[in-house]
Amino acid sequence: MIPYDTVRVRFAPSPTGMLHVGGARTAIYNWALARATGGTFVLRIEDTDPERSTEENTQIILRAMRWLGLDWDEGPEVGGEYGPYFQTQRMDTYRNALETLKERGAVYPCFCTKEDLDAKRAAAGESYSGYDRTCRHMDPEKAQARIDAGDEHVWRLKVPEDHGPIEFDDAVYGHMSFPAEVMDDMILVRSDGSPTYNFAVVCDDVNMGITHVVRGDDHLSNTPRQILIYEALGARTPTFAHLSMILGSDGKKLSKRHGATSVEEYQQRGYTSDCMVNFLALLGWSLDGETTIIDRETLCSEFSLDRVTKKDAVFDEQKLDWMNGQYIQSMGSAKWVEAARPWLDEAGAVGSPIDLRSVYPLISERLEHFDQIPEKLSYLFWGGKVELDETSVAKVLKKEGARADEALRACREVIADESIPWECEPLQSACKELCETLDMKPKNLFQPVRVAVCGNMVSPPLFESIELLERADVLSRIDYTLAEVFGGR
Ligand code: GLU
Repeated sequence: MIPYDTVRVRFAPSPTGMLHVGGARTAIYNWALARATGGTFVLRIEDTDPERSTEENTQIILRAMRWLGLDWDEGPEVGGEYGPYFQTQRMDTYRNALETLKERGAVYPCFCTKEDLDAKRAAAGESYSGYDRTCRHMDPEKAQARIDAGDEHVWRLKVPEDHGPIEFDDAVYGHMSFPAEVMDDMILVRSDGSPTYNFAVVCDDVNMGITHVVRGDDHLSNTPRQILIYEALGARTPTFAHLSMILGSDGKKLSKRHGATSVEEYQQRGYTSDCMVNFLALLGWSLDGETTIIDRETLCSEFSLDRVTKKDAVFDEQKLDWMNGQYIQSMGSAKWVEAARPWLDEAGAVGSPIDLRSVYPLISERLEHFDQIPEKLSYLFWGGKVELDETSVAKVLKKEGARADEALRACREVIADESIPWECEPLQSACKELCETLDMKPKNLFQPVRVAVCGNMVSPPLFESIELLERADVLSRIDYTLAEVFGGR
């Protein structure tokens, strides 16, 4: 017997594409519920659609799950006592369940061909209300004879005639009731012996002892059908919790039109997995209605279904950017260098003498995601060269009456002065003194230097940057700029 006193939840993706952020949220809720209750989190791969399920997609989903840190207790790669955890490897369990249903008289073979059904549908037109149950009333012996003769057939569920409304208390949607009369005698096993989606899911959830089915509300209409299958099997129905849809900022269902929709894309753009878990967890759940930064430990101890709302959640990318910025600011330099490594390398950091940990204070408040690093930090790795941004040249260096060349020459002299320690503070104050000497506003003095050294006018703090560079390189950048823009030193 499977114990029902501990929570057993599952995430059951179909490997037909990348892990969508909606799917990731479902996974997070299941995982957090298992952790908060001391239960078990099962990962099951629903790969029965041979055309759309691929091994590659399965790997992409497993990688995304690992990256998010959603460790599963049972499933692919870790095993478990209720395996296998791929539906394609569970065909014998579906066959056994069909045998049980036959013994219980809960199913019947149906020999109607596709053409028969199409004709019935066409004849009924608008009033078609599902299969007319022709084969349900066939004499069992005759049916068996046709099976023995090899006649093609499917197996349908015999929905009880006198079934009252199908009711359940959804942990998110509340009390739900569906009339049983409108339920079709659905196909459970196709003519090739393969199980339909609803049948396979119920068999697995029963055999794996799942106590709570937490999934997207696109499955809400499947639930009454699945309850009929639980009842036919004589199995206990789990608690259902259906999660609302995720909308884009325009109020429409989140889709490719809104930009990135897969976990992998966010990973590639340099969001941290801690932030993604936090952000996605808040799409429909809240800790106390106001806290926004919630770490994994808190999520795993405080998560509960009664704080999940049925209101549609809006995926606000600006909020995500803000939140990821918060995570970057609190991660510290060592972790940052490690996490941001691929983007630092892309910016040119490979082989650089700069201690990358000392770059962190310059940039930690200026980053929303790591793929902004090449644009914002590559100037640190240009050596003695500088790539001048045209707009900054026009606005700062060539600005009428700004005397940018004078500013550059004067600061160059200070920077070349080896008696000044090569540190931010003394260099900055020595340059600042020039404001008085030259009768120039600090902005007019420093902006040209910023453009000459960092290439543009929006770089991280100037003298903190200069301190990280070699003196000869800074001078060479200024000389280059003077030559390029003003025709000489
Ligand atoms: N495999 C289904 C899907 O990816 C999930 C089934 C379920 O959670 O019941 O939509």
